[in-house]
Amino acid sequence: MTRIASHRGGTLEFGDSTPRGFSATAQMPLEEVEFDVHPTIDGAIMVHHDATLEGTTDRSGAIATLTEAEVRSAVINYGAGGNPISLDELCAIHAESMVDFRCEIKPGADGRPYPDFVPRVVDLLTRHDMLERTTFSSFLVESLDAIAAATDRPMLWLVSPPVLRQVGPAAVIELCKSHEISEIGVHVDTADAALMAQVQDAGLDFGCWSAHTATQIEKVLTLGVKVFTTDRPTLAIAIRTRWREGATR
Ligand code: FE
Repeated sequence: MTRIASHRGGTLEFGDSTPRGFSATAQMPLEEVEFDVHPTIDGAIMVHHDATLEGTTDRSGAIATLTEAEVRSAVINYGAGGNPISLDELCAIHAESMVDFRCEIKPGADGRPYPDFVPRVVDLLTRHDMLERTTFSSFLVESLDAIAAATDRPMLWLVSPPVLRQVGPAAVIELCKSHEISEIGVHVDTADAALMAQVQDAGLDFGCWSAHTATQIEKVLTLGVKVFTTDRPTLAIAIRTRWREGATR
């Protein structure tokens, strides 16, 4: 069965990385909640997509230069008045949920990985008994190396369209082998059956990200990818349910 990951707690249904999106996702019949993490200047780990606040909230500034209280005071756009939450809070929201974590390690505003950040994320998840329910992801191979050094939990490389186009599938697969990466995710619009077969024939798992429209969701279900992220988890569940009913008739 193709797994569904509610991207940033279902951005197009609940706003970007909002408390209500994560709470709603925790109750949904899907498998994963995808989220991104950033450190604050005073040692907290916040759940937010961008490294800065201005793109998705009423405040500005880089999270890594702000205190936890300052980040919390931001109001998320289209988020029903919700404020950014910490990873501690997300763990609490999902403690009793069947929905597992898909934790993306983001770089800072300069595009570089945060120094010594991954072990702190792993420690926090361990303290909340969530590490064993977490898959990690990153666009940065450097961050995947840091994840592999800190934990043996599964991880996947998010391969962007420019990377896939410029280096090609064979080089992507080679890089995976040399960095012990066992899974990749590509943008849904760059996925097709030939690419999936090439990746799987190399012994790697294959998934997609950004399947937000009905057409994109139907595409990934038809391909039979391992997992996909979507900003519309409710829609994805409805389509997958219809899909399964059709398959069993
Ligand atoms: Fe992400």
